[in-house]
Amino acid sequence: MNQLCGKIALVTGASRGIGRAIAVALAKEGVDVAVNYFSKADEAKKTCVAITDLGRKSLAVRADVSLSAEVAQMVKSIERKLGTIQILVNNAGIVYSASLDKIPEEDWDRVIDVNLKSAFLVTQAVLPGMRNDHWGRIVNISSVAAQTGGITAPPYVASKAGLWGLTHSYATLLVKEGITVNTVAPALIETDMITKGLKATSAHIPVGRFGTVEEVADVVVMLVRNGYMTGQTVSVNGGWYFT
Ligand code: NAP
Repeated sequence: MNQLCGKIALVTGASRGIGRAIAVALAKEGVDVAVNYFSKADEAKKTCVAITDLGRKSLAVRADVSLSAEVAQMVKSIERKLGTIQILVNNAGIVYSASLDKIPEEDWDRVIDVNLKSAFLVTQAVLPGMRNDHWGRIVNISSVAAQTGGITAPPYVASKAGLWGLTHSYATLLVKEGITVNTVAPALIETDMITKGLKATSAHIPVGRFGTVEEVADVVVMLVRNGYMTGQTVSVNGGWYFT
């Protein structure tokens, strides 16, 4: 029997792109999945339909994951309707690029809050349930930008590098409690963020193409299955950066 069957997951930013693919890949493993979104309710519903079509339960939950009150409300609602969250994927994020000399302080704050503080807030909110169960899986979605600087701006790169520190800290503190914490560092994956947001081309990628959302989701599922990997970063970047 699949060891993940019947577990409950929360994937943040699962209305589109990488988050949607992770949510669906977890459902294929028999997991019930809460689909967090920020503004695109219709897209979140499509993710939920893909999950229920696989015979699993799903729930779309709107929350700005950079705000503690909304995170608390979201987790409460998921725990009431689906049960204790055992798998958390901190995926929600926004891309940011700007001229070096024109980065307003409020932009710095917003990018750090949405990309980094959110992972702390959601982790803190789900940890009591995981610790009570002595089992949990947390995967933080970072970026090749943390390794190379990438083609974005300092707030984005700093937020993605910050996720590594967060991962290392929680992995150390939770290692005896059956809870693993890992990071996935993708680039460049064909989603709205890359094609519309950054308008990037695949010229940066040694393999010569964008990655697919399913290629990232595969790695997340592998980390969720594996109880002996913790505190690690797995790169999914078409050979852009070697670890
Ligand atoms: P995407 O297509 O732009 O999707 C972003 C997701 O995040 C959407 O579901 C969006 O919700 C959600 N979101 C944004 N702000 C939020 C907030 N404040 N609260 C809750 N949800 C929020 O992006 P993607 O390419 O799939 O990226 C997913 C993650 O992978 C991000 O953390 C990104 O930095 C990282 N990443 C992506 C790439 C890449 O090549 N694509 C590379 C490296 C890292 P709505 O749909 O409701 O707006």
